[in-house]
Amino acid sequence: CMANFTLPPLPYSYDALEPHIDARTMEIHHTKHHQAYTDGLNKALGNLGPEWQNKNDAVEILKNIDSVPENARGAVIFHGGGYNNHALFWNNMKKGGGGEPSGELADAIKKAFGSFAHFKTKFQTDTVAIQGSGWGWLVKDASGSVQFITMPNQTSPWTRWNKEKLTPLVGLDVWEHAYYLKYQNKRADYVTAWWNVVNWDEAA
Ligand code: MN
Repeated sequence: CMANFTLPPLPYSYDALEPHIDARTMEIHHTKHHQAYTDGLNKALGNLGPEWQNKNDAVEILKNIDSVPENARGAVIFHGGGYNNHALFWNNMKKGGGGEPSGELADAIKKAFGSFAHFKTKFQTDTVAIQGSGWGWLVKDASGSVQFITMPNQTSPWTRWNKEKLTPLVGLDVWEHAYYLKYQNKRADYVTAWWNVVNWDEAA
């Protein structure tokens, strides 16, 4: 038996983020990689019986990750994280994005990092430096402040909900599958290009 998660649609066409992120990468990333995390989440929950097979809110599952039976928890952290991270990631980008946030988010970034430029340098440097596969994240914490964190592999910031009440705002996927076709080993070039498509309205 399988759970019922389905691949969330991409909110724009595969070529919408060209030239910063190429259409072929977007298509494979969405239809193959994101689909694989979706299938993996359904399989992991499907092994756990009806109570888990019928769940349909990935964020609730991730926020309460300690309640997932131990024999499936690792698979749910990986595939459930991948499922939710990519859904956020697509919405965190748009054609004609970039620039800087405004309003409350801009104020929070300035308060936490000193300036948007400082935030950008920190986010870029530390995300590029992730060893192996992972994500850089701008998150909101329990006090309403924003923080930069990195997370390994597909582990979601939502899995830190019980201890820290972290809410992911903007995530950047630096798995090689996110950039290798266009940028090969040049992860920093991919991150530099990504700033041009960030959807700050969605993050706010
Ligand atoms: Mn990915």
